[in-house]
Amino acid sequence: MNIHEYQAKDLFRKFNIATSEGEVFENETEAEKYAKSLNANEFVVKAQIHAGGRGKAGGVKLVRTPSEVKKTVKDMLGMTLVTHQTGPEGKVVNKVYVEAASSIKKEYYLSFVTDRSSEKNVIIASSQGGVDIEKVAEETPEKLLAQPIDPVVGIQSFHVRNIGYFLGLNSPQTKQLNGILIGMYNLFTKMDCALVEVNPLILTEEDDIKALDAKVNFDDNAAFRHKEYSELHDPREEEPSELEAKKWDISFVKLSGNIGCLVNGAGLAMATMDIIKYHGAEPANFLDVGGGASVEQVTQAFKMILSDKNVKAILVNIFGGIMKCDTIADGIITAAKEVSIKVPLVVRLEGTNVELGKKMLVESGLNITTASTMKEAASTVVSLI
Ligand code: GDP
Ligand code: MG
Repeated sequence: MNIHEYQAKDLFRKFNIATSEGEVFENETEAEKYAKSLNANEFVVKAQIHAGGRGKAGGVKLVRTPSEVKKTVKDMLGMTLVTHQTGPEGKVVNKVYVEAASSIKKEYYLSFVTDRSSEKNVIIASSQGGVDIEKVAEETPEKLLAQPIDPVVGIQSFHVRNIGYFLGLNSPQTKQLNGILIGMYNLFTKMDCALVEVNPLILTEEDDIKALDAKVNFDDNAAFRHKEYSELHDPREEEPSELEAKKWDISFVKLSGNIGCLVNGAGLAMATMDIIKYHGAEPANFLDVGGGASVEQVTQAFKMILSDKNVKAILVNIFGGIMKCDTIADGIITAAKEVSIKVPLVVRLEGTNVELGKKMLVESGLNITTASTMKEAASTVVSLI
C-alpha cells in the first residue's frame, strides 16, 4: 500500500529522519497563510499523488513569495498530472504539500528494500540522486551500493561508515547520515514496510543532510497488525474497480486491453493473459476469483468485467479443483440475469463437475461459445473481437 509524500514525511518526523518543515493543503488561501508563517525566502509546492517523476511533469514548483504559493497551489489542485509512473491517463491532484525550500549542494539516493534472494533487508545508496534510479542501476551499476543488514543484529555503525564512505561524506556528515539511516531502519522494520525511499537525499549549502522527497510503501501482508495503515489509505489514488474487488476478496488488476478474463488461480490467470497476447490481443484485466469462490463472488467478478467499457469479449477459463465448474456456471447465469451481456462470451471449463457446469450453461439459453482447450478458447475469443 502506497502513501503520500506528506504522510511519509510525517512518519519521517516521528522516526527522527531529518526533513524540511511542511504541511499539506486542499485550499490555496490556507497554503498562503502557512507560507507567510514559515518565514522562508523560497518555497516548494508539491502535488501529492501516488507516483514519482512529479518534478519533470510540473508537479514540483519552486516559488519566491506566499502569494506565488497561493497561485501555484490553486493551479495544481484539480489538475491531472501525467508522469512516467502514472500511465497516459495521469492522476488528479487533490492535495498539495508546501514546505520551506532547501538549498541543494548535492543530491543522493537512499532506500530500504527486502532482497528476497539473500533473505535480508538491504540499504541501497547512490551518489546519483534525484534521477531515475533504475537507469543508474542499468547504465552505471558501480554507482550503486547494496548494503545487506543481518536481521539478527540490525543496523550497525560499520554499515553507516561503509555507506558514508561510498557517498563521499566527511565525518560530521556521516554522523548526520547515521541518524537518518537508523530512523529509516526503524521505520522500515517497525511499520512493516516494503519500501522506504528517499530520492533525493540532499546535502544543503549549510552542510545539513536531509530527506527532500519521501516514499513509503507498506507490506499489505502486515495490514492485520497495523490498524494505522487504514488511516493513511487514500482510496482516491486507487482504481475504483480494484477497490470494489478488494471488498469482495477478489484479486483484480485493471489493464488496458479489451478481452475481459475470469479465471481461478493466479498462475492460470497469468497463463490466460499470456495466451491472449500470444494470439495477438490484449487482456482487459487480471482476475483471479480464487480457489473456493462463491456464486456471489463469481457474479460480482462478472459484473466488474462488464462494467469496463473497453471490454469487447470475455474469456472464462476455469480449472475446477476446489472450485467447482457448476459454481462458475451458476455465477455466470446469475450475473447474466442481473446485467445483460452484450459482448461475446467464451467459456472453457475443465475439472470437478465439468459436465454439470456445461449442462447448466447450455440449458440457460445464454449465447455462449464453449471451448475445450485453453488454446482453442484463446483463439476463439480473439477472433470474436
Ligand atoms: P519527484 O520528481 O516526484 O521525485 O519529486 P521530488 O520531491 O524528488 O522533487 C523533484 C525535484 O525537485 C528534486 O530532485 C529537486 O531537484 C527539486 N526540489 C524539490 N524540493 C526542492 C527544494 O526544496 N529546493 C530545491 N532547490 N529544489 C527542490
Ligand atoms: Mg523524488
